[in-house]
Amino acid sequence: MSEVSGPLAVDTAGRFADEVRRRTGQPIERCYQCAKCASGCLVAEYTDYRPNQILRMVQFGLREQVLRSRAIWVCSSCQACGARCPNGINIAAVMDGLKEMAVAEKLAVPEQGPLFHQMFMDGVRRMGRVHEAAVLARYKLKTHRLMADFGLGLRLFRKGKFPLLGSRIRRQEEIERIFSRALASGEGVTRHEAVLLPGVLAGSHGKGI
Ligand code: SF4
Ligand code: SF4
Repeated sequence: MSEVSGPLAVDTAGRFADEVRRRTGQPIERCYQCAKCASGCLVAEYTDYRPNQILRMVQFGLREQVLRSRAIWVCSSCQACGARCPNGINIAAVMDGLKEMAVAEKLAVPEQGPLFHQMFMDGVRRMGRVHEAAVLARYKLKTHRLMADFGLGLRLFRKGKFPLLGSRIRRQEEIERIFSRALASGEGVTRHEAVLLPGVLAGSHGKGI
């Protein structure tokens, strides 16, 4: 976790907050920093900012800090925060909207999460489900961090959580149809899913990913 740092390009006109509100349909202005979302977030300890901090930064118009953050990519959309929010803010939807904006504005930092997202969604597209070993192998080859987390991988393998062979779902062509339709629409099946599509991501981020 960290304090907001770096040059603070504050958008005093509230344009960023308006944009996020419009894009996600969420009443972010209602957030009063009770932090119930953060206390239930399973990935909070792995992020640079907690979900309540992201909401505050959006309210304050810290566009660049938010869109470059790791927090928006580490969010797994588990919805635990939204279920706890006394103001009915769907924070996972806000995070998804921020991912879209980060990609569209070329502010997403590949190593912060977009690269992993792309590999994850590539795997889903190919097989209809994720084959963890294949996703991780590709990710490690791309990032040249072959031995990082080796011990963890070994433990998962021993517990049978890391099968070497993947399997396809039965009607995988339906997944392909969803991807194709989303990509053809230029945005995705829904605004929130668009950013997770590899073609959209690769297209807007160039060859860095
Ligand atoms: S949806 Fe994202 S921010 Fe909310 S609790 Fe889950 S991981 Fe954390
Ligand atoms: S639970 Fe809702 S109101 Fe409380 S800090 Fe999180 S987003 Fe804001």
